[in-house]
Amino acid sequence: MECMPSNLRLAELLFPHIDKTPEYYETKYPPRNLPEGAIVTRIAPSPTGYIHFGNLYGALIDERLAHQTGGVFYLRIENTDQKREVEGAVEQILDGLNKFGLRFDEGATETKDRGAYGPYRQRDRAELYQTIAKDMVKRGLAYPCFCTEEELEDIRKAQEKEGANFGYYGKWAKHAQDTPEQIETALREGKSFVLRLRSPGREDGKVRCRDLVKGDMELPENFNDIVLLKSDGIPTYHFAHVIDDHFMRTTHVVRGEEWLSTFHYHLQLFDLLGWQRPVYIHTPHMLKQEGASKRKLSKRKDPEARLSFYLSEGYPAEGVVEYLLTVLNSDFEDWRKKNPDLSCSDFRFRPERMGTAGAVFDIDKLRDISRTLLSRMSAEEVYRGTAAWAKEYAPEFYTLLTRDPAYSQKILSIGRGGPKPRKDLTVWSDVPEYVDFFFEETFDPVYLFPDHLEQEDIRAILDRYVQRYTPDDDQQIWFSKIRELTAELGFAADMKAYKADPAAYRGNVSDVSMVLRVAVTGKTASPDTFAVMQILGKDRVLQRLNRAKEVL
Ligand code: GLU
Repeated sequence: MECMPSNLRLAELLFPHIDKTPEYYETKYPPRNLPEGAIVTRIAPSPTGYIHFGNLYGALIDERLAHQTGGVFYLRIENTDQKREVEGAVEQILDGLNKFGLRFDEGATETKDRGAYGPYRQRDRAELYQTIAKDMVKRGLAYPCFCTEEELEDIRKAQEKEGANFGYYGKWAKHAQDTPEQIETALREGKSFVLRLRSPGREDGKVRCRDLVKGDMELPENFNDIVLLKSDGIPTYHFAHVIDDHFMRTTHVVRGEEWLSTFHYHLQLFDLLGWQRPVYIHTPHMLKQEGASKRKLSKRKDPEARLSFYLSEGYPAEGVVEYLLTVLNSDFEDWRKKNPDLSCSDFRFRPERMGTAGAVFDIDKLRDISRTLLSRMSAEEVYRGTAAWAKEYAPEFYTLLTRDPAYSQKILSIGRGGPKPRKDLTVWSDVPEYVDFFFEETFDPVYLFPDHLEQEDIRAILDRYVQRYTPDDDQQIWFSKIRELTAELGFAADMKAYKADPAAYRGNVSDVSMVLRVAVTGKTASPDTFAVMQILGKDRVLQRLNRAKEVL
């Protein structure tokens, strides 16, 4: 559409304060100087204080694409809806994603912005949006609409009655043909307006497009004069997305598939503005299996829909990322089998391997991955991960754990390092209960001795063991003492013999071991009793053996 003088006049009337041009911004934000094939991605959350697990899923794709190709991954804050904004939300986003190892190269930070394509908070970009808006008005591509809520509602009702498509278009677009004089009068009267796109689309039109995962698509063309700027001069998501991703030079837009229904708006805007469309990936929703059916992971119903759930429960970040990679790329698990020792950041993520169906969230699988990961970690790694978790979520335990780091690491080293490491821990929050008996403050014994043993047998086991116990015994001697004592007290040291004739014995060697375990740890399940005794040391072992006798 050519620049008619009336459009120029209208543009000045609506945006008298805007003196910049799109060219100014093209120069200010030049194409990025990156190697061939480098991908530029972003996440663009709204600062509502709620981070959905699906955000991490999308962010992981963004991060991998950018960092695998020498590109840029940045954070943009979509704060156009002031009502929904929550204080501290940006910090929460940065902190949350940071904990999962996702690092931004550019964008919003807690304090100010970092990077040459900012500002990265949408409300600070009003001048840019309005510059593009003004230019569109000049080109006849946008116009002000003074309709009130009631008028819009009336239009909707009339459309319903006629069986017409909903929206603001054609004969329904009351203000599409207003003259500059009419507009001037309305403005003088102080009427508020939104700026609408003058859509050239047809109701039966089609637009071709591509989603990197879903493939080529044909969508209905947009014929609706959608709102570009709201009455406060702040853009809608649609307008801001197109302008921001153009001027921030995003090459790949990864976003939830809820945006597919308005994808044709964005395609039309890119085309009308003469800008290159980015590559799009619309990610499927996370689904939850419920009986035989699947449903969307719900913010309201499912605690696991919230990213903070994984942090407070103490899922190791790498486990969560690893799990998401199994969901994202069908070949990840094969790769993992072949490369058990590599970090998951060494895996080359390929969007073409992503599934198009919804990803079913499987917490058991996540737990399984997490358990295996924890079992392979060194004691020091477990110590560090647990301490970081506890500092935030279990401060009292944090004090105990970090009081003597060498002691805590000794505890956490039990059963680690061999070819078949123990799998006692799934999440960091399992650690407090797992180690509580090592600390006097949390040692709270429950003396559940094997109930088929007589009281005096238990007492005898404890007495005799106290007499024999020397803290320097190695594992072999330690165990041979238990066997000696077993035989002495008329228990079976040999399990086969015991099974052949249980009535001939008072019990067997595992009963004896259990009595010692319960006395020393106050639990029926614990890591290896020998290792536990070594760590507790002579005084405490003797103290505990004697204390256990008191309850008999
Ligand atoms: N603010 C939008 C959202 O939170 C961003 C969508 C996008 O990535 O473009 O859904």
